Amino acid sequence: MNKIIVANWKMNPSTLKEAEELFRVSTNAIVCPPFVYLEELSKIKSGAILGAQDIAFSDEPGQTGEVSGEMLRQLGVKYVIIGHSERRWRLGESDEIVNKKLKLALVHNFTPIVCIGEKVRDESFRGFLKGQIDSTFDGLSGEQIKKCLIAYEPVWAISTNPGAEPDTPETALESVNFIKSIVNIKVLYGGSVDSKNVKDFISLPEISGVLVGGASVSKEEFINLLNEVSK
Ligand code: PEP
Repeated sequence: MNKIIVANWKMNPSTLKEAEELFRVSTNAIVCPPFVYLEELSKIKSGAILGAQDIAFSDEPGQTGEVSGEMLRQLGVKYVIIGHSERRWRLGESDEIVNKKLKLALVHNFTPIVCIGEKVRDESFRGFLKGQIDSTFDGLSGEQIKKCLIAYEPVWAISTNPGAEPDTPETALESVNFIKSIVNIKVLYGGSVDSKNVKDFISLPEISGVLVGGASVSKEEFINLLNEVSK
């Protein structure tokens, strides 16, 4: 099964040794570790591909705490997560900043993994998603949009949020089809995916893969998940 698996490690694990162990077993996944581990992980041949969790919104060097596209490129990064909900909602990253990051990721030839998703599931979800897609992809050409992946991640389904529950494959499919009616590119699902439910999502032809947070930072659980995917 040719599906895309993205591991978003967030601020995990707490040591380089654990990061190296995790990376070695993450065969065929796109692994997005904390920036500080990128250099050492780039030296390991594991079959995993390196991604970054974020990118600076401009190449101008006067930006305390940011990491530039050029720096990421030198570390062998191929994919960049753009607009993750934890950055949008917890850090106040605006649509305008997300849009700038997306444009810059394309300038540096990364494949952007663009996160979108509603905060609450009610009848307004289509309007919300349409607005988020329009502002995130504002000013991009059709050719540029084709180079992106979308990760549909309903915020209420992300395991770090109180009361989170995975979306059902049916509801996820409703959203994915709606997204694809606006931008017809590959869409991944993210939100409490684990080894037990991954097959429910990736068996749907419309869902091109999954973005995995919590379950990607437990070695055993992620090995199980990857085994499920390859069955
Ligand atoms: C995420 O944060 O992108 C995510 C999908 O997390 P989790 O799998 O832990 O819900």
